[in-house]
Amino acid sequence: GDEYVISGQKTWSSRASFADWGFGLFRTEEGSKRHKGLSFILFDLNSPGITRRPIRQLHGEPGFAELFFDEVRVPAANMLAGEGQGWNVAMATAGFERGLMLRSPGRFQATAKRLVDLYRANAANASPATREAVTQAWMGTQAYAYNTYSVAAKILAGGKIGAEASLNKIFWSELDRSMNRAAMQLMGAAAELAKFADGSVNQWLDGYIFSLSGPIYAGSNEIQRNIIAERFLGLPRQGAG
Ligand SMILES: Cc1cc2nc3c(=O)[nH]c(=O)nc-3n(C[C@H](O)[C@H](O)[C@H](O)COP(=O)(O)OP(=O)(O)OC[C@H]3O[C@@H](n4cnc5c(N)ncnc54)[C@H](O)[C@@H]3O)c2cc1C
Repeated sequence: GDEYVISGQKTWSSRASFADWGFGLFRTEEGSKRHKGLSFILFDLNSPGITRRPIRQLHGEPGFAELFFDEVRVPAANMLAGEGQGWNVAMATAGFERGLMLRSPGRFQATAKRLVDLYRANAANASPATREAVTQAWMGTQAYAYNTYSVAAKILAGGKIGAEASLNKIFWSELDRSMNRAAMQLMGAAAELAKFADGSVNQWLDGYIFSLSGPIYAGSNEIQRNIIAERFLGLPRQGAG
């Protein structure tokens, strides 16, 4: 009829503890397997039948939630691109997430600037390795910005994001981790006094803890390396012998 009735469970939903809307891939064809028979549906997170169980992170904030759907009624008009087309939509959104939108260069450039300021304030205690890490971080954020502009220009010219989104994802997740790690090294033991220290230390600790999840979310880096090997470099498929 005019509605889909959704039942099931989903963990690791970012920001679902406080968001109003969500989207997901749902199996709409009985008996279908893997990426076939899936549909992309948007849903109001306040709908009757949805239970959210916030997941608390290391620092106590509930950045994620586990969602339970118990016969949730969603208007059929909330489906994007038609029944069974969900995988195509998800691959397009994953391409943008990994390759362009999720972690903007401006955000990294701002972090690199804060890192340079932190280095200047602590230069007397910094090892040559930390100085090198700060320089690499600053150069990495500039390179990341130029690369993002080039991907955007390619799309504006009618092109598509391809397997290079996986290269980008590995780059930004490793850059984020190394920038935050360098900051932690500059601050020494004080960096771990999250609850008691001033705002700047808290912010770096927050960033460091979050950066550790970068190689996992938006598709783990091991999987991105498989994609690069198979689709970019044309190497044999994993398990193909
Ligand atoms: C902070 C965070 C936020 C997230 N937000 C969301 C969200 O909003 N929505 C959502 O849907 N999901 C979200 N996720 C889930 C995330 O996308 C998955 O955790 C991630 O894709 C890895 O899948 P998995 O946990 O099932 O690990 P698994 O697939 O079980 O993998 C476990 C380990 O084995 C490795 N591995 C698995 N298969 C292979 C292979 N073929 N070759 C080599 N190595 C392999 C993986 O790289 C990984 O290290 C989030 C996760 C985190 C940590």
